[in-house]
Amino acid sequence: MLNTNEFQNSIQKTKEEAFREIDQENRLEGLEQIRVKYLGRKGIITSLLKNLKDFPEEDRPALGQLSNQLKKQVEEVLLQRAEKLKEIQLTLKKGRWFLDYTLPGRKGWVGKLHPVTQVNERIIQIFYGMGFEVAKGPDIETDYYNFSSLNFPQDHPARDMQDTFYINDDILLRTHTSPVQVRVFEKTEPPVRIIAPGRCYRNEAINSRSYCTFHQVEGFYVDTDVTFADLKGVLTAFVWEMFGKDVKLRFRASFFPFTEPSAEVDISCILCSGKGCSVCKHTGWLEILGAGMIDPAVFDAVGYDSEKFTGYAFGMGVERIAMLKYGINDIRLFYENDLRFLRQFQL
Ligand SMILES: [Zn+2]
Repeated sequence: MLNTNEFQNSIQKTKEEAFREIDQENRLEGLEQIRVKYLGRKGIITSLLKNLKDFPEEDRPALGQLSNQLKKQVEEVLLQRAEKLKEIQLTLKKGRWFLDYTLPGRKGWVGKLHPVTQVNERIIQIFYGMGFEVAKGPDIETDYYNFSSLNFPQDHPARDMQDTFYINDDILLRTHTSPVQVRVFEKTEPPVRIIAPGRCYRNEAINSRSYCTFHQVEGFYVDTDVTFADLKGVLTAFVWEMFGKDVKLRFRASFFPFTEPSAEVDISCILCSGKGCSVCKHTGWLEILGAGMIDPAVFDAVGYDSEKFTGYAFGMGVERIAMLKYGINDIRLFYENDLRFLRQFQL
């Protein structure tokens, strides 16, 4: 037997439970079951009303009012929910979407440039600021422009089928953007100061460090009295713009068929500031690009006077720069179109 207080609490509890059940019910038949459960002959609210006679006479009017109020509220909410469900059914029957205004909103995504595009544009911007013009060439090249004119001997390993996608004996997918150099030289007299951004293709095993396609920016400058010091100056200015003025550069002697002398350029590791970490393999240095003075044999091939003109050339991988700049450890991420990756570069 409940006392008066407990009875009031029980009414409140019953109300909350009934409202919750009605709100969660999505079928009309379910609503009918809820009606029977609370308002039927043996229903919860009906029993509450029956119990009223056990309470002291002076409490009965107030408790009776509460119980009747509860009964009315539950009837009303049941009716409202039934109306709503009928409305939804009708809308669905008409084949229209039912808009549930109570659902949380979804954020719309705004498209952004791919990180490789962003870095490519930044590189172009920096060199443009130093007086370089942009030139472009075809992705499908001839052996002459991709190799022969650039002083690649017939037996050079880069000509091997393993590195190059050949379409036939003479036509191939360019392995670097250097052919643009020759195409520009053929049409222009020095001075020329050009950067050639573009996509390249190599028949390489795909892993975290190399991919069958990538982007390169090639740069070159030909004039009278162009020296290696000019090359160092331009590359230092570029690296400082791209990675910050704390970064140091190192030029290591190297070999490329179309430059002499040639150098690999390293920058001090931007992650550990040169102290040594796993990214720089504990050397403190990161390889960033190749460069050198254009070989006179290239000038001879395009009819430039190699006694009169000198020039430098450099080439860098855009993905490589993006990986260093953003600390990305796998080149394949750029080509998998995973939005979770791409959305991190919303500059
Ligand atoms: Zn490091």
